[in-house]
Amino acid sequence: MSWEDKVRKVTPYVAGEQPRKENVIKLNTNECPYPPAPGVAKLAAGMDCGRLRLYPDPDASTLVNALAEYYHVSPKQVFVGVGSDDVLSMAFLTFFNGGKPILFPDVTYSFYDVWADLYRIPYRTCALDQEFHIRPEDYRQPNGGVIFPNPNAPTGVFESLDVVERILRDNRDVAVIVDEAYVDFGGESALPLLKKYDNLLVVQTFSKSRSMAGLRIGFCIGNEKMIRYLNDVKFSVNSYTMNLPSQILGAEAVRDDAYFKSVTAKIVATRERVKGELKKLGFVFPDSKANFIFVTHPAIPAKQIFLALRENDIYVRYWERPRIANSLRITVGTDEQMDRLLDFLGRYVAEYGKGGADGSLQVHNS
Ligand code: PMP
Repeated sequence: MSWEDKVRKVTPYVAGEQPRKENVIKLNTNECPYPPAPGVAKLAAGMDCGRLRLYPDPDASTLVNALAEYYHVSPKQVFVGVGSDDVLSMAFLTFFNGGKPILFPDVTYSFYDVWADLYRIPYRTCALDQEFHIRPEDYRQPNGGVIFPNPNAPTGVFESLDVVERILRDNRDVAVIVDEAYVDFGGESALPLLKKYDNLLVVQTFSKSRSMAGLRIGFCIGNEKMIRYLNDVKFSVNSYTMNLPSQILGAEAVRDDAYFKSVTAKIVATRERVKGELKKLGFVFPDSKANFIFVTHPAIPAKQIFLALRENDIYVRYWERPRIANSLRITVGTDEQMDRLLDFLGRYVAEYGKGGADGSLQVHNS
């Protein structure tokens, strides 16, 4: 017997690569290509570093109040964390404690099974249909809780609020968590359903639509009682999860609604244009309402395209997993970045058609 027998052994989540090289076109972790709201840089520049000797407000009240005002809810309905990963992890620990398996889609955010394993929560996956849509009837079986992203990741597929409500209606006695990391790019939030369902938790993030992945800010909104239970668990793990700059700068970002709307509109416009161009090159994909597109080329293996892109300093995301091993998830960047991607893909697909690309082909960007 050794100490190693007592280790809590887990297979960790693998995050997308953060290349150290300069001049990489980084379309692999769904960050926003535009900077945060201009007020954020101004506030950061004038920040009083003397305040850093003190612990931050454990309730993150400045940020919680800004979010409550923006989403027209009580501050008692808002919980913030270190990225939505932290919020989701706390929510798993708090609400998925019923003994029965929790349910989530078979193709989804690959952190869910990691948290379930870490916290010893049994789980069962429900197969999405051929078009990567949720089949709500699958969520009618006995379970210990339900979680799904909407839009889903990595597919970008959005489920209507009718589908979300059907799942809520069939699951009144467990927590239902809707992970809305990508909802600001054309989806519709489940927040209005909070009035009808006290077991709903809506989770969102500043990492994508608010261009602040580097500050790690996530939040959720739910019934006051749910938020109280979440805080009890959070304060049993770490009182001071969110640092002071994140609290101040996050609140500033929320206040600039015009900038937020202009950035998300720009991403949506670029996404729709790129969809058309990718189609012309023969790519197929489910319709995305997120800031990424999940593409397959019927004639060229995804892994081959992934490696060729990487060789040419264009990073996208690829998973060698069931159902998705022939797809690539491409984050929507600036128009210029997407034009460089499309230019490369155009040349690559043409060369492949001529029989030139056998996996070793390199099409260097000019
Ligand atoms: N949910 C989904 C579906 C995601 O894709 C991500 C990003 N990896 C997150 C949550 C977590 O993002 P963050 O912790 O940066 O808020």
